[in-house]
Amino acid sequence: MQDFDIVIGLEVHSELKTNSKVFCSCANKFGQAPNTNCCPVCVGLPGALPVLNKKAVELVIKAGLTMDCEINDLAVFERKNYFYPDLAKAYQISQLVRPICIGGHIDLKDKSVRLNRIHLEEDAGKLVHGTQAIGTLIDYNRGGVPLMELVTEPDISSAEEAVEFLTNLRQKLIYAGVAECKMEQGGMRCDVNVSVKPKGSDKLGQRTEMKNLNSFKSVFRAINYEANRQMEVLRNGGKIIQETRKWDDNHGKSISMRKKETSSDYRYFPDPDLLAVEIPREDVETIKKSLPLMPDQLKSIYMNEYGLSEYESDILTKDKELSDYFNEVVEHFNNPKEVTNWILTEVLNRIKDEESAEIKISPCDLAKLLKLVEDKKVTRTNAKEMLTRIWENDENISSLEKEYGGRVDGEELKSIVEKIIANNSKAVEDYHTSDTPEKVFRWFTGQVMKETKGKANAQKAEEYIKELLK
Ligand code: ADP
Ligand code: MG
Ligand code: ZN
Repeated sequence: MQDFDIVIGLEVHSELKTNSKVFCSCANKFGQAPNTNCCPVCVGLPGALPVLNKKAVELVIKAGLTMDCEINDLAVFERKNYFYPDLAKAYQISQLVRPICIGGHIDLKDKSVRLNRIHLEEDAGKLVHGTQAIGTLIDYNRGGVPLMELVTEPDISSAEEAVEFLTNLRQKLIYAGVAECKMEQGGMRCDVNVSVKPKGSDKLGQRTEMKNLNSFKSVFRAINYEANRQMEVLRNGGKIIQETRKWDDNHGKSISMRKKETSSDYRYFPDPDLLAVEIPREDVETIKKSLPLMPDQLKSIYMNEYGLSEYESDILTKDKELSDYFNEVVEHFNNPKEVTNWILTEVLNRIKDEESAEIKISPCDLAKLLKLVEDKKVTRTNAKEMLTRIWENDENISSLEKEYGGRVDGEELKSIVEKIIANNSKAVEDYHTSDTPEKVFRWFTGQVMKETKGKANAQKAEEYIKELLK
């Protein structure tokens, strides 16, 4: 059977994290009542004029800088003309010839995926398909939401790699504060271009494109289905035609939709309503300086400066909220290894059992708790109990400290109980022979309290006495 290589190129759309839309002052906000968040500009009424949101341009530059793109010094907006009901103007403002970013790359475990470009455009409205009686409705709220489109070179070779790429990209955008990438809200969507070619051949095969996939799982399934379909066609002597196919996630297959349009079909031309955007180098430098540490940089700090393992560093940097949290705890309690131990066990285990991923102890309180343990003001066992009470009942750490502080517990308590029992063999004998052993038992607890000046964990003390008197 003939063997094939799979070739994949991705076009990824991400909604940018701005306050307002890209060409008007409507809010960039998800989940409003239909058609309550639009104006003459974003529904394209005749005569309405777009005004560019500077922040959106900055965010695309920011994204580009995290991926080593070149930032063009002049960016141009063009009209991409097509009719569809969700696009009231019958053109989308986008960029073709002079996008904001060109080139760049994202490095995966085993390879570097080259980027072709990143450009800025506007999102379209949303069709809502109702029952047959209602028909299809249009919600224009999403129209004009700023979108960045990132286009890769066809450097990806498997569904696994595509998902690795998207995971990495998403992590970068979230860390840089460029986009929130909420997949379930359509905040990140992906067009997948797939072709196959005879194994080892350097000539690319004909590609097909599946648009608007909104989960990594469907990207994964769609690539595997489509690559296998194409191999099947070729093995049977058929030909692949360049087309746009629809991925049907429910049935797990792709269906031919239309012959693929080319850029000339869209009759691109510079939008006369918008000036070309000059991007001064000083601005790019300023934006570069404003970039927070990216996951790779954090990872290397964690490993090289903090002495954490790669495994630990990976977990801490997978999610920005978690690495932010970790960094803040370390700021207050400068023992990264100990902080990591607590986060990876006590904190993450508690989250695992809950619906929400919320960490219910502030970084400052966790730092205080670890300091109490370090200063031997509370035992480890007590600290875990305190953590539970803060987590579950939002209790105050200072009053918990008073309650637990100096409390004798755990191993320390156990050895005191052992000593008392060893030094009082007569009482031990009494306990086993007496008619009222509970009296002798109380005498033992009294001894423990005397020895610990009343600071013993009473419940634990009783357990130990019971255990050791057996
Ligand atoms: P269009 O918008 O017409 O789809 P673009 O140039 O914007 O064209 O995007 C093309 C995408 O398809 C890129 O991600 C590119 O890497 C990918 N691509 C191009 N040729 C192939 C091919 N033969 N096989 C797989 N992907 C391809
Ligand atoms: Mg395309
Ligand atoms: Zn508007």
